[in-house]
Amino acid sequence: MTQYTESAALLQRAQKVLAGGVSSEFRKYNHPHAIFYTHGKGSRIYDVDGNEYLDFTLSQGPLLLGHSHPEVLQAINTYSEQGQLFAGQHIREIELAEKLAEIIPSAELMRFCLDGSEAVQTAFRVARAKTGKTKFLRFEGHYHGWLDNVAWGLSAPSADALGDRADPEVYPWSAGLAEHVRDEFIILPWNDLDLVRKTVAEHHHELAAIITEPIMCNNGCILPKDGFLPGLRALCDEYGIALIFDEVITGFRVALGGAQQHFGITPDLSIFAKAIASGYPISAIVGKREWMHLIEDAKVIHAGTMNASNPTVAAALATIQVLERDPPYERLYHYGQKLMAGLQRAATETGQNLRVQGLGPMFHAGFTDLETISDYRDTLSYDKAKLGKLIAGLHDNGVRVIGRGLWYISAAHTEADIDHAIATARHLLESMA
Ligand code: PLP
Repeated sequence: MTQYTESAALLQRAQKVLAGGVSSEFRKYNHPHAIFYTHGKGSRIYDVDGNEYLDFTLSQGPLLLGHSHPEVLQAINTYSEQGQLFAGQHIREIELAEKLAEIIPSAELMRFCLDGSEAVQTAFRVARAKTGKTKFLRFEGHYHGWLDNVAWGLSAPSADALGDRADPEVYPWSAGLAEHVRDEFIILPWNDLDLVRKTVAEHHHELAAIITEPIMCNNGCILPKDGFLPGLRALCDEYGIALIFDEVITGFRVALGGAQQHFGITPDLSIFAKAIASGYPISAIVGKREWMHLIEDAKVIHAGTMNASNPTVAAALATIQVLERDPPYERLYHYGQKLMAGLQRAATETGQNLRVQGLGPMFHAGFTDLETISDYRDTLSYDKAKLGKLIAGLHDNGVRVIGRGLWYISAAHTEADIDHAIATARHLLESMA
């Protein structure tokens, strides 16, 4: 029986001084409670009770190279010794920006920030300033950070409670959200181009931007329907609206140049974070010059004391250097798709209604009787209690997966890791039958 006694004791101690015992809300929802980890290496992570886990959370995505990649650590060490922050420029910022401009289709000009949430807000500011319009269109179930104007509409009690598809009910994710920001956005179900077209035709005079995860990774890992992303691109061109891709998860993961490279659709602005620097805090807002020049000209202000520190930029450069020298993409897809197929087969053979979907480098597995999951409303059919049981069972057996059923593959995973995960899941699915 896996023991969590040390973690439980530390959690009690933490709760006296850290609100809820954690530094980010999502970390509460581990099994059986927030867990305290000691170290990670490659595809493994270890906790204070001495438990070892095969890790498919990858810290919610960033660890594309696995834990503690030696070249990233080396870069961090070397450049930390040279200084941390200069309240000024350093040469590696140029090198990183040049590299991103080379590999990301839409990246003509960029700025570095600390995380995805603030880079998203920067994109909204640029879009508003350029178009002179105030609102943005976003989609149900897409996560763009935790700040107010994107935190309305993240949680609904049921699909029915969302009501009219053309005029959805919007529920607050948190107490304390500013009411007035509800005027900043229009929200719609995803993957319904006709509905977006109709809405944009009516509201284009007030829409500065459409923001989307190019793959809806945060709820169900849903691929865009054929024509959906090109349709958004065409609408934005027609009406002078910024198309913003939130590539915080897809960036570097589905292809070196992100989902925009994978799908061949070039947004006006996009956000990269998570995997850019293997777990060190840096993000980028990148975009076409015709949009980003507003920051260049200081019409739009973007700032931040901690932006682009010497070690974090070095971590990003080292990460990209490894990705270019030893591209893991074939393996990420092969292992991911093998794991998806293995889980699906195990579920079918044990009579479980597990539905597995995604591209491979990341995918979702959840229990539902629906044949098709194409938007957030469909994902509300997932049986959370049953998924919780599977995730808990996996965890107790040394396989760590994000509680909402999202699996991330890293360059450090091996064929044996994938086989082990399938066998562990099969065993649990059999016992759940
Ligand atoms: N956008 C997407 C698609 C995300 O998945 C996340 C975080 O999970 C964010 C934005 C926010 O990024 P951060 O947590 O770095 O602020």
